[in-house]
Amino acid sequence: MEDLESLFQPGQVSTREETRIAYSRDASRIQGECQTVVWPDSTDDVARLVRWAVETGIDLVPRGAGTGLCGGATPQNSVVVDSAHLRHLGPVDIQTKQIVVDAGIPLDHLNRTLHSEGLFLPVIPGSHRSATVGGMIATNAAGLHAIRYGRMNDWVEEAVVVDGKGDVHRLSFNESKYVVGREGLTGMIVQAKLRLAEIPRNRSLTLLRFEHLEDMLNQIRSLKTNPSLSALEYLNPQAAVVVGWAAKHTLLAEYQSGDGEIMDLVEMATLWKTRESLSARLTHAGFPISEDPQIQPETQESILDWLTVQGIPVFGHLGVGILHPRFLLADPRIIDLYHRVITAGGQISGEHGMGLKKRQWASEALKSDIVALKTQFDPHRVFNRGKLC
Ligand SMILES: Cc1cc2nc3c(=O)[nH]c(=O)nc-3n(C[C@H](O)[C@H](O)[C@H](O)COP(=O)(O)OP(=O)(O)OC[C@H]3O[C@@H](n4cnc5c(N)ncnc54)[C@H](O)[C@@H]3O)c2cc1C
Repeated sequence: MEDLESLFQPGQVSTREETRIAYSRDASRIQGECQTVVWPDSTDDVARLVRWAVETGIDLVPRGAGTGLCGGATPQNSVVVDSAHLRHLGPVDIQTKQIVVDAGIPLDHLNRTLHSEGLFLPVIPGSHRSATVGGMIATNAAGLHAIRYGRMNDWVEEAVVVDGKGDVHRLSFNESKYVVGREGLTGMIVQAKLRLAEIPRNRSLTLLRFEHLEDMLNQIRSLKTNPSLSALEYLNPQAAVVVGWAAKHTLLAEYQSGDGEIMDLVEMATLWKTRESLSARLTHAGFPISEDPQIQPETQESILDWLTVQGIPVFGHLGVGILHPRFLLADPRIIDLYHRVITAGGQISGEHGMGLKKRQWASEALKSDIVALKTQFDPHRVFNRGKLC
């Protein structure tokens, strides 16, 4: 690896054992093997690194905060390219409501900076404290407010990407499909121009609890007719008890109006904090494996019923059909779930991506799509080798 170190400044490359161990997996817990970590400072650094990778045949794994849950940033004897040094924030264009940011900016940092301008990037995954703009683009992140604001593909006006030949592309909104949701397979995103939304002036929240699943699903149909609905989060009885709530089917409905029952900002923040604590609490309770199927409204009842009868804790963004059932390590019911979701016409990954974890479940259509993109942008298979192709 000496020749790699000679291409960069001291401190930009590490082969230390503790560093390699720390970067050998992401939040999926899938164990990989990291050869070296590189922290590029610029687009030129990334391009130089790609040319080195083409020459040596070693593959590169772009990494943001490593909060991904499907092994997308897990290396397989690869060089990990950490975006942590790519943290420049351009000025906000108030007129167009846009900002140019580097890929390594964590979402909360961006939104704290934007707060004084009354603007924010409204795609809010549960990992918002650390997830980076680059990782969110690569996974086409959705999240807590997807019912109102959609996902990242709606908010990327432009993306600057270094492809697998070391060429730099400035992709327009229409071309951003070559990187958004492509899980770092087509290149490394170094910068993006993002569209922004106005911070809502008026917010309120209602907590609804149901004994019967059917009653809740009927109620959802009417809740969704309210145009100010901005979040619709679900907890099944097994998940609700983990945060100390009654063992009921529970909904958190947020409105950008006064239509909710709770208007007090502190009370609302406490409820959201409780909901957001769920992931960590479920891990501590012995359910570390997070799935993310996306299921159409017509088939939600049978799958939710099966999960609840099985005693599997579930939460998620039910407003857009994305659920997070939580499992024990190596629980065979995960495969059962995938079959049920596919049979019901849903997707086994609604927002986390396929990564290493689900690559063998990719459809033929997705695989051939990726092969075509690889031929165009990454013919030497430099980026995320072994994932989806
Ligand atoms: C508690 C918790 C809650 C979560 N909630 C949500 C949620 O509500 N919605 C949701 O969508 N996801 C959620 N996630 C999953 C995860 O946080 C998102 O996928 C997030 O967008 C990943 O960002 P990251 O910076 O951590 O990326 P990483 O995990 O580092 O990488 C993810 C993928 O993107 C690629 N990548 C990273 N940076 C770049 C780059 N600069 N250029 C090209 N490719 C890159 C990687 O190679 C990898 O394939 C959650 C995860 C956790 C742990």
